[in-house]
Amino acid sequence: MAKVLIIGAGGVGRVVVHKCAQLPGVFSEILLASRTKSKCDAIAAELSRPIQTAAVDADNVPELAALIRGFQPEVVVNVALPYQDLAIMDACLETGVHYIDTANYEPRDVAKFEYHWQWAYQDKFKAAGLTALLGCGFDPGVTNVFTAHALKHHFTSIDTLDIIDCNAGDHGKAFATNFNPEINLREVTANGRYWENGSWVETKPLEIKRSFDFPDGIGPKNIYCLYHEELESLTKHIPMRRARFWMTFGDQYIKHMEVLVNVGMTRIDPVMHKGVPIIPIEFLKTLLPEPGTLGPDTKGKTCIGNWIEGTAKDGAFKRLYIYNIKDHEDCYRETNSQGVSYTTGVPAMIAAKQLLTNPAEYRQPGVWNLEQLNPDPFMTDLNTHGLPWIESFPAHPLPGE
Ligand code: NDP
Repeated sequence: MAKVLIIGAGGVGRVVVHKCAQLPGVFSEILLASRTKSKCDAIAAELSRPIQTAAVDADNVPELAALIRGFQPEVVVNVALPYQDLAIMDACLETGVHYIDTANYEPRDVAKFEYHWQWAYQDKFKAAGLTALLGCGFDPGVTNVFTAHALKHHFTSIDTLDIIDCNAGDHGKAFATNFNPEINLREVTANGRYWENGSWVETKPLEIKRSFDFPDGIGPKNIYCLYHEELESLTKHIPMRRARFWMTFGDQYIKHMEVLVNVGMTRIDPVMHKGVPIIPIEFLKTLLPEPGTLGPDTKGKTCIGNWIEGTAKDGAFKRLYIYNIKDHEDCYRETNSQGVSYTTGVPAMIAAKQLLTNPAEYRQPGVWNLEQLNPDPFMTDLNTHGLPWIESFPAHPLPGE
């Protein structure tokens, strides 16, 4: 029984709160804090058990530390934005509390997805006897656990890893993003990058395109190779010859994105507008639907998984495709949220549950990515808490190979 502080009342925050509230034996008290308290109160009103809510500016370490001291949680789950990661880690260190997030730190003024800022906290967390679990959503998060599971149970060595993220959902809007629009567009408009033979190969944004036939009736979709943060930690912690990340985008999404890029609406540097500096991508975020509001209208499925090839335990070549399929409408029925928020929020809850209930494996002092920990209890919890996984052994190579 422990208290949990959840920071961020967006699409993902709603799911983390709903899922933690389902486990009163683990999460005895919940405090949801975010910039806008009314959003926390709206989520609290959806639950069948009482939780506390508060306003907090998560960029402000003294304000965070005061909130943490007042509530005294065992763990903080950060599902605000990546900009807040370091401030929240600092506040956890100051108050002696464990830390979990779902996205690595990004400075506001450069679209750089790198772990070095957070890995630099390793000694401080170790010295304080505290644990930080980084990247505990689906990707990063479950994709890291899938890789560790594959290495533990199927392979002696991994040759290639392809993470394939498909959102086959339709929200009925001309253009919207299923997670924070600013973070989403920064990620997609950046140059692509993949790991091969010990170094990074850079591509232009969305330069490499293939078609992949997704299971469970989803069918063929275009997938695009882009850089994603788990590639950095996975290639550091698990030797492999090549690692890539693929995401589906519909033609409608690409068309809008190209126009927005061409007219400068995705710029992250300040421009003067009528004598006032504005950052175009921040203004664009104001215009776009919030991910947390897409739930009622989103239909279809998500399918996220890892395609892994390598040497099996018996020395033979082996090919594994391990994935989860989730239906947006099922997610909405359970948590008032669409599938992208759901598939991120459930693993964040599982990471917090493991940290609290499985200290020998998930509460070692230091800063960890999930592939460094025993995947088995996490894999079991995925099946129990709404994200069951399927293993298949395709006879054919990845399309285009
Ligand atoms: P939303 O934009 O829906 O929610 C973000 C929330 O954080 C909002 O409630 C916002 O408040 C709050 N917030 C922002 N800045 C501050 C601040 N300074 N202080 C306090 N609260 C703040 O985003 P999502 O829920 O879609 O995403 C949440 C996180 O999850 C992001 O970091 C995203 O990158 C990550 N993510 C990870 C994935 C994974 O698989 N690993 C997949 C999808 C998302 P307000 O409403 O007032 O603006």
